[in-house]
Amino acid sequence: MKTPGRLIGPHLQVHQGLRNAADRAREIGATAVQVFTDNPTAWRRRAAPPAELAEFRARLAGGGIRSLAIHAPYLVNLCGADDEFWARSVVTMAHELTVGRDFGADFVVMHIGSHRGEERSAGIERLVCGLGAVLREADQAAGGQAGIPRLVLENSAGMGDGIGSSLEDLSDILGAAVDAGLPLERLGVCLDTAHLWGAGYDVGSAAWLEGFAERSERLLGRENVVMLHLNDSRTELGSRLDRHEHIGAGKMGHEGLRDLLNHPWLGTLPTFLETPGMDAGYDVLNLDRARLLADGQALPTLPPEAFTLRRSAARSGPPAA
Ligand SMILES: [Zn+2]
Repeated sequence: MKTPGRLIGPHLQVHQGLRNAADRAREIGATAVQVFTDNPTAWRRRAAPPAELAEFRARLAGGGIRSLAIHAPYLVNLCGADDEFWARSVVTMAHELTVGRDFGADFVVMHIGSHRGEERSAGIERLVCGLGAVLREADQAAGGQAGIPRLVLENSAGMGDGIGSSLEDLSDILGAAVDAGLPLERLGVCLDTAHLWGAGYDVGSAAWLEGFAERSERLLGRENVVMLHLNDSRTELGSRLDRHEHIGAGKMGHEGLRDLLNHPWLGTLPTFLETPGMDAGYDVLNLDRARLLADGQALPTLPPEAFTLRRSAARSGPPAA
C-alpha cells in the first residue's frame, strides 16, 4: 500500500496494558497513535507513571510509530465561569502535559469546552487565561519547557454552549492567545471531521475542501493546524451532535475524506482515527479503509454487525500498575 511517510493511526484502547497497545499499533501498521493516559471520565489522575511506560515508548519507536497524541479527559472545561471547576481543569491539563512529556507525546489534545451560558467572548477570555495557567504550571512541574507536548484545541460539533465549532471561533481563540502573549508554537488546533460535519461543514461534498483549506489557512494559519481526527459521522450534517462512524460508512461518505487525505497541506498532518470498535478489531479495519481511500481505491462494504457495536466499554487509560 503506497502511504509512504504518512502519519496515521488509531486512538488505541490501553486497558490491557501499554505494552499490548504498542504491539497492536505495530501489528496493524500504524505510524501514529493516540491514547488516554488515565480514565478519561474522572478527575483523579494516577500519581506515578504507568510501570510499562518505558517499554511502551521503546516498542512504539521500534515499531515505526512516529507520532503520539494524548487525548485529555472529557471533564476539562477552561471556558466556564465556575472558579472551582476552572481551577480543577487547569491542574488536570497541566498534569496531562507533564505526563505527556513522560510519554514522549507530540500533542495533548483537549476539547475546548463550554461557556455555560456566559458570553462567548467571556468564555474565550477564560479559556485563554486557563491555557496560560496550564502552560505555566506544566513548566513549573516539569522544571522547564523541554519535551512538553503542544497543547492542542479540538474543534467541537457545537452542542450546547460549546465554543470552537467554527473556524471563526478557533481564529478568535488563537487571536486572543496572541493578545495574551501566549506562544502559538506551544498551542495548536486539531480538526475533527465528524465535528466539522456536526457543525455544518459539508465534509462529504466533492467541493468542500478547496474553500475550507483556504479559509483554514487564512483564519488559523497553516503552522497552527497540527493534527486531524479522521472520523465519519452517524448524524446529519449540521446536527451539532458528535457520533463517530466507520470511515466512509457514515453520513458523510467517502469522497470528502478521500480528498482530505490527498490534500497537499491538510493531507500531510498527523491523522488519528476515533472510529467505533477499536478494541473489537475495527482499529485495523478503519486504518485499512483510510489507507484505501488515500490510495484512491474503493472501500469494501461493512457487515451489518459493524453498525450495532456496543459503545466501547473500554474508554480507559492503562491499568493501575
Ligand atoms: Zn476527535
